[in-house]
Amino acid sequence: MAKILIVDDNLLNLELAADVLELDGFEVMTASSGRQSIEMAVQMQPDLVLMDLRMPEMSGLEAMLVLDANAATSHIPVAVLTASAMKGDEERLLNSGFSAYLQKPIDPSNFSNQVAALLEG
Ligand SMILES: [Mg+2]
Repeated sequence: MAKILIVDDNLLNLELAADVLELDGFEVMTASSGRQSIEMAVQMQPDLVLMDLRMPEMSGLEAMLVLDANAATSHIPVAVLTASAMKGDEERLLNSGFSAYLQKPIDPSNFSNQVAALLEG
């Protein structure tokens, strides 16, 4: 089963997303900061990273750019998972290098389908 790394500084968001995906059979890893997500991605080689945008110290955008620039992780798709839904945000984030855009709050009844679709690419 696919390995998913979820990154969010909000532990409730992190647990909800992790629980939903685990119930549907994904292998889930979690990180609560951009820095931690980079270490975990290098070591665990997930099939997909779901990245929060607004985090202290290192934003999701910064973390994605580090993953993208590292030969050990540049092959891993990084989807942004964000409550940022202003007009133009999706296009801007995709242009900055995220492989996909998912909205928070997640819909627990559909979230696993969305993630599976990203894995099929
Ligand atoms: Mg956040």
